[in-house]
Amino acid sequence: MPDTVIEPTHAFRRHGILFVVSAPSGAGKSTLLNSLRQTPDFVYSVSCTTRSPRPGEMEGEDYFFLSKADFESRIAAGDFIEHAHVHGNYYGTLRETVLRNLEEGVDVLIDIDVQGALHIREDGGAIGSALADIFIMPPSLEELRRRLVKRGTETAEQIETRLANAATEMEAWHAYKYTIISGSIEEDLLKFRAIMRAERYLSRRLIRV
Ligand code: 5GP
Repeated sequence: MPDTVIEPTHAFRRHGILFVVSAPSGAGKSTLLNSLRQTPDFVYSVSCTTRSPRPGEMEGEDYFFLSKADFESRIAAGDFIEHAHVHGNYYGTLRETVLRNLEEGVDVLIDIDVQGALHIREDGGAIGSALADIFIMPPSLEELRRRLVKRGTETAEQIETRLANAATEMEAWHAYKYTIISGSIEEDLLKFRAIMRAERYLSRRLIRV
C-alpha cells in the first residue's frame, strides 16, 4: 500500500519534508526521480534554468526555461530559496512552491546540485528543519562515463566537463544525511523508500491538533 501524503491519524498532523536529491549527472538520479514522480507521495518542485531544453524536455515539466535576464530579475525579486551556477548555466528552486507545500504538510522533492544543497542545509528556519538530504553516489567514475556516453545527450567536451565536475561533487557525499550507492533502479527505489518512511515517523515532524 503506498504511503499517504499525510498519515491518517486524527490527533496529529505533520510538517512536510523537503527531500533534496543530489548526484553527479549520469548517476541514475533522473531515472529514480522520474519513478518517484509517478507516485502521489510528493510534489516535485520544478526548477528554473537558463540552459536550453534537451530533446523531449518540456517547459514546466522538466524545468522552467528562462533567459539569463529573466533569471537575474527573479534572483533580485527573491523568488528562489537557492540558486547556483552549474555547468555554465543558472539553476534555481522556486520559493513559493516549496514553502506553500511544506506548510500544508505535503512532502516536496527537489533535484539540486551540491552547492544548492549546501545553501539549504545552512537555512536555520522552516526549510532547514524540513530537510532530508540524500546523495546518490555512482558506483565509479568509469561507470558514470559509460552511462553519460550511453545517454548521448552531451557532446564529448560536455561529457568531460560533467565528469570533472562529478569527481568534485562526489567528495560532497559525507555532508548529506543519507547516501545511496546507485545500483539498479529497483534497488535505488527501495533504499529511497526506506529513507522516506523513517523520515515520516520523526517525532519532531508531528504537530498535535
Ligand atoms: P541538468 O542540466 O543535467 O538537468 O542538471 C545539471 C545539474 O543542475 C544537476 O546536478 C541538478 O541537480 C542541478 N539542478 C537542477 N535544478 C537545480 C536547482 O534548482 N538548484 C540547483 N542548485 N541545482 C539544480
